[in-house]
Amino acid sequence: METIGIAGAGFAGAVLARELVESGKYQVVIFEQRDHIAGNCHTVRDPKTQVMIHQYGPHIFNTSREDVWDYVNRFGKFMPFMNRVKAVTEKGMFSLPINLMTINQFFDKTMSPEEAKEFISQIGDSSIENPQSFEDQALKFLGPDLYKNFFYGYTKKQWGVEPKELPASILQRLPIRFNYDDNYFTSRFQGIPEEGYTKIVERILDHPMISVQLGEPFVPEYKKEFKHIFFSGPMDAYFQYKLGRMNYRSLIFDRFDGKGDMQGNAVINYCSQEVPYTRISEHKHFAPWETHEESVSFREYSKLAEEGDIPYYPMRLAEDKELLARYMELAEAEKGLSFIGRLGTYRYLDMHVVIGESLDLAKACLAESSDAWPKYSGKPL
Ligand SMILES: Cc1cc2nc3c(=O)[nH]c(=O)nc-3n(C[C@H](O)[C@H](O)[C@H](O)COP(=O)(O)OP(=O)(O)OC[C@H]3O[C@@H](n4cnc5c(N)ncnc54)[C@H](O)[C@@H]3O)c2cc1C
Repeated sequence: METIGIAGAGFAGAVLARELVESGKYQVVIFEQRDHIAGNCHTVRDPKTQVMIHQYGPHIFNTSREDVWDYVNRFGKFMPFMNRVKAVTEKGMFSLPINLMTINQFFDKTMSPEEAKEFISQIGDSSIENPQSFEDQALKFLGPDLYKNFFYGYTKKQWGVEPKELPASILQRLPIRFNYDDNYFTSRFQGIPEEGYTKIVERILDHPMISVQLGEPFVPEYKKEFKHIFFSGPMDAYFQYKLGRMNYRSLIFDRFDGKGDMQGNAVINYCSQEVPYTRISEHKHFAPWETHEESVSFREYSKLAEEGDIPYYPMRLAEDKELLARYMELAEAEKGLSFIGRLGTYRYLDMHVVIGESLDLAKACLAESSDAWPKYSGKPL
């Protein structure tokens, strides 16, 4: 039996490990530098309030891939949850993503879907034919008022750069809707695990052929002990940043406690650049099936990831992609090594994408000998 090493016990590493060992051909050792499993999806019951806390920021599971949904449901019960985000702007409080309610309230109108479409197409900047930047994209499709109130300040805080320096593709994640659907996600299946994400990952890892070494960072010197390594930490970190650091945004979560219902909703975004944080999450609302007298909220601040900060969002600026291409040359030159997951492939990926990619990668690996295993769980560039 061949022994495979995996760095990282997040969804990417855990799902891949489980699929490999279930084939009966491999055993897996997972190295996890933190003192817990589940990566950034880690949930923990707060000893003071008993609220289930999403330690690295709120996570809502959503997918349209039935195999991924069936897979996660094998390891725990998912409760129905829809993320209905509210946004505080300089003009007041509105519903996000921008939907017909938002448009009608913001412009003080009572338009039908068709009327709203016509209205928005009139206020959009039709002189922008081929939007290159986030700002162009927003001005073309939303016009200046919606852009300024909902996106300009928020995006600047989130990414730390002027929105005109960001690629147009980022805006596609928050489309405008011409109906009253205020569900943040449009996936077929959505939910939050009843007992938290960590319990799901714990059950995925619960297999006699998987061993997990917590509090132990994987270092390249360990590689010789394994037939193959899958690395789900940052690609530049694996190579000890020898070509430089790729840019990430990091987050600071500032906890404050209260009683009863602190804000009446799970997530409220603060769009103005005058407010230093991007959003506040009140975590008991992520488990509406539980009741708690006390409550816990977090203000979320965004900053450039510096040495020692947790890398959360890959920035993928032009300079980052150039560096990524150079790191990929190093990766390709090294045998017995693959990069997986969000950090390993330097892409912003939701949980369901990471899980789906690990399932697909496992299938590809089980069809080949380990000498021919894919280099990445998805396309980094
Ligand atoms: C604020 C925020 C909110 C999010 N909200 C959602 C959401 O609502 N819905 C959704 O689907 N997705 C969401 N995501 C995305 C989700 O967090 C990722 O899809 C998921 O964490 C990716 O899993 P992963 O295993 O690739 O990475 P991670 O969860 O980051 O796991 C990687 C693990 O590798 C470990 N590691 C790194 N280097 C080493 C090393 N050298 N040795 C050993 N271990 C190492 C790390 O400690 C970590 O535990 C959100 C992300 C953020 C940042």
